[in-house]
Amino acid sequence: MVTVAFAYRVCLALGNAAHRKKSRSAEQWTAYALLYLPVRTSAFSMHHVTVIGAGPAGLMAALAAAQRGCQVVLLESMDRPGRKLALTGHGRGNVSHQMETEALLAAFGPAAAFLKPAFYSLPLARLTAVLETVGVRLTTEADGRIFPASVGARELAQILTAAACAHGVELRCQTRVTELCPEGDHWRVRCAHSAPIASRAVILTTGGMSYPATGSRGDGFRLAETLGHRIEPLHPGLVGLHCPGTQPAQGSSALAEVTVLAAGRSLGRTTGPVLFTHSGVSGPAVLDMSKHATKALQAGNSPAVRLNLAPGMDAAAMDRRLHEAIRNSPRRSLVRLLETWAPPKLARFIVHFCRLDEKTPIAHLSASARRGLSQAVTGLTLPVTGHDGWKRAMITCGGVARSDITARTLMSRRVPGLFFAGEILDMDGPTGGFNLHAAFATGWHAGLHAAAMIRS
Ligand SMILES: Cc1cc2nc3c(=O)[nH]c(=O)nc-3n(C[C@H](O)[C@H](O)[C@H](O)COP(=O)(O)OP(=O)(O)OC[C@H]3O[C@@H](n4cnc5c(N)ncnc54)[C@H](O)[C@@H]3O)c2cc1C
Repeated sequence: MVTVAFAYRVCLALGNAAHRKKSRSAEQWTAYALLYLPVRTSAFSMHHVTVIGAGPAGLMAALAAAQRGCQVVLLESMDRPGRKLALTGHGRGNVSHQMETEALLAAFGPAAAFLKPAFYSLPLARLTAVLETVGVRLTTEADGRIFPASVGARELAQILTAAACAHGVELRCQTRVTELCPEGDHWRVRCAHSAPIASRAVILTTGGMSYPATGSRGDGFRLAETLGHRIEPLHPGLVGLHCPGTQPAQGSSALAEVTVLAAGRSLGRTTGPVLFTHSGVSGPAVLDMSKHATKALQAGNSPAVRLNLAPGMDAAAMDRRLHEAIRNSPRRSLVRLLETWAPPKLARFIVHFCRLDEKTPIAHLSASARRGLSQAVTGLTLPVTGHDGWKRAMITCGGVARSDITARTLMSRRVPGLFFAGEILDMDGPTGGFNLHAAFATGWHAGLHAAAMIRS
């Protein structure tokens, strides 16, 4: 009785102290302290699974493990789960892409084989079913991108959180994990401002380094590295590239074949929409290829981006087309001549890029000037001097080395009982829903296998 009275007085004192700083009433703070303090300080109340990071990967991992009967605690450093998820797809949440599982996997290039068990654990049909079970119906757009039909990305995060909590997941926000200590058959998870948590398994889903304001600040890489995991060099992906001198074309968009080059070699190529920005180039095709340029920049190579505004056509074929067009309408302006392949601002930019006077009558264009224009339309090569940085990059490339993780279970090969899911892993996909599907699938898969480990 004396102990209870003492504990109550401690809670009351804490309640009053907290009340002096914040706006809640002393009674509210006292109730809070009485209810939650024992939980927060119970270092030895053992959970089955601790999930670190409540993004799409962590929410799915927590849901999967809890649905299989595990006692799960989900720790999130921010004030609410899924801050990045809420921003995805311009607030609509492009959660996957309509294609066969093998094609989805192929989009991840060298990581495809590693991701195979996770994607077969949560293929599109099962992801759709899981989301429908929690009340989120999906819709597919003409280009194959899949979005929630009637809720936004922010609601999707709230719904997934509510579903996890309804299955008994204990969510603790504003809880930043600082250290992971393996202790015999369990883990001690140390947090910045609260007591450590003990659990049998840990799933690390702290995301990458991009958009740090959403909570993804690279903590997980440090935690994993401390435990002996190799981190493949990190560089931003799905990020706008800086190309000096392109400002006059700002706002122009075109369909182009985009190639990233460095040291005379092609590092990657795709075809799709390109957008000229105030500082260089962006748009889906450039975003998808940007990881090659950021990696080359980091290595000290000088990358360039080459745009073919007439995909499938080479400079010789373009020269024949221009020659024919000039013969057919010799009174057209240079800019009008190029407008077949580029919007007016970009056409004007190309003319200046070729050091031509846009007032020159095309009938007076020399053969070498015409060939220069053909080269520029089919291979406009712009040096890349930088990128929009971690603050604006959509994803992180590199991460925890796949060779340190068993693909079949997503458990560490270095430390048993530690699982990984989501962007913390060395894997990255293009724009169009691939990265969210990968986060959901790896989260789900890690949750299932952590639960299987607890049961065994
Ligand atoms: C603007 C934008 C738009 C995007 N749009 C799309 C899209 O439409 N489709 C698509 O497929 N992909 C999209 N992406 C990419 C996608 O959002 C990510 O790939 C995905 O969120 C990764 O999920 P994750 O759970 O691994 O990591 P995150 O979403 O980064 O979640 C990690 C969580 O861990 C928490 N955390 C970090 N460190 C700690 C710590 N020490 N302790 C506790 N918690 C911690 C963070 O606060 C965060 O909540 C977009 C990204 C951005 C930035």
